[in-house]
Amino acid sequence: MTFKDLGLIDPILKALTDKGYTHPTPIQQQAIPILLKGKDLLGSAQTGTGKTAAFTIPILQQIYNGIGAKKGGRKLKALIVTPTRELAIQINDNVTEYSKYTGIKSTVIFGGVKQASQVLAMRKGVDVLTATPGRLLDLVKQGFIDLGSIEYLVLDEADQMLDMGFIHDIKKILKLVPHKRQSLFFSATMPREIVDLSKLILGDFEKVTIAPEKPTAERVDQAVYFVGKRNKANLLKFIIETEKPQSLLVFSRTKHGANKIVKVLDKAGIQSAAIHGNKSQGARQKALNDFKDGKLHVLVATDIAARGIDVSELELVIQYDLPNVPETYVHRIGRTGRAKASGIAISFCATDERTYLKDIEKLIKQKVHVVAEHPFLSDEASEAGQMKGGDAPEQPKRNNRNRSRNRNRNRNKPKGQNNNGPKKQTARKPNKRFGSKPKTE
Ligand code: AMP
Repeated sequence: MTFKDLGLIDPILKALTDKGYTHPTPIQQQAIPILLKGKDLLGSAQTGTGKTAAFTIPILQQIYNGIGAKKGGRKLKALIVTPTRELAIQINDNVTEYSKYTGIKSTVIFGGVKQASQVLAMRKGVDVLTATPGRLLDLVKQGFIDLGSIEYLVLDEADQMLDMGFIHDIKKILKLVPHKRQSLFFSATMPREIVDLSKLILGDFEKVTIAPEKPTAERVDQAVYFVGKRNKANLLKFIIETEKPQSLLVFSRTKHGANKIVKVLDKAGIQSAAIHGNKSQGARQKALNDFKDGKLHVLVATDIAARGIDVSELELVIQYDLPNVPETYVHRIGRTGRAKASGIAISFCATDERTYLKDIEKLIKQKVHVVAEHPFLSDEASEAGQMKGGDAPEQPKRNNRNRSRNRNRNRNKPKGQNNNGPKKQTARKPNKRFGSKPKTE
């Protein structure tokens, strides 16, 4: 199937050719015909599936077809609400590109920056607005935005909106848009609250569900290093220096932690940048652009800031801290290995994070490969290896020091059995690089 088969108009087809898209993705094949018929849509899909084009293209086409009929000043016709600034910018970039031959105007608004240029853009007249909820309501309250002319409403990443506490803002926005409209609702997951919220928004809708080609945990090569808290920075430097990844995203649980990682790397002469909520929007965007353009090889991010980052060739993800919510682990490793690229995800696990790892392995129904041989196996890690419960690091193969340690540990075990307990499926481990013996010691 081609985009032409979907009934798209020439100005949009031309823009898609410029983007290098040859064939619609599954969600585009399914959603575009439904939306061009004017129906509401409930989309269960993650970023990376091509969902942004799936919802923006039909809206643009309908607006384009309607422009001739409606003379007079430019009125806001489509509103796309999304949880984070990064996603908002990304969506608006897509809208701008897909609509470049249509004469349709679009803009984006989000908090954390001065409002003047956003107000000016709205004054000039906009057809499609992408916004985060807080700043949107703020500008509506100040009288700079009127949502009374909205014909198309998109709620993107609804589960994330809920997690971030935007539910009241969403309900306020719903009161401001006309009842007669086409509504689109997207969420990666569909727990009960999300289904309830979708009922408030959608009228007569059709549902499209796109499962990722393979579960993330099966697509991405994973490994975990047991390492003492104080040695995490050394291990990170070691991995960067020996493996020299072209694009590495490091996850830190806290903003403060992210800043600290950048400082430590800086001292070691490794250039990196942090993105999180305390950074100015300009700084976040610059870091992200440099990273996407390959000028910056290491980006350190908190979960919120990293959600939705679309870097197709992301080589390596390192979880400096393991998350206490196992689903977050899956979101994080899903940043790599996108669009058929093979990715590698490494986690650092301190003694007090062992229970998090257990929860993660339960969720992904796999054991994560343990890199037992590395220069920063700390006292904490070796002590932890002797803990009851049988989840000690996988035994090293070639390290004599560790071999004798392991011999003692396994003394009472039948031959061929290590401390890993009952045999469980093991997650794909990184081959050659990262997962085996470090190149230098
Ligand atoms: P999304 O799920 O909207 O975040 O899109 C993921 C990535 O796929 C983005 O980099 C898009 O530019 C890209 N993309 C979307 N649709 C297509 C397509 N039909 N062909 C190739 N790439 C696409």
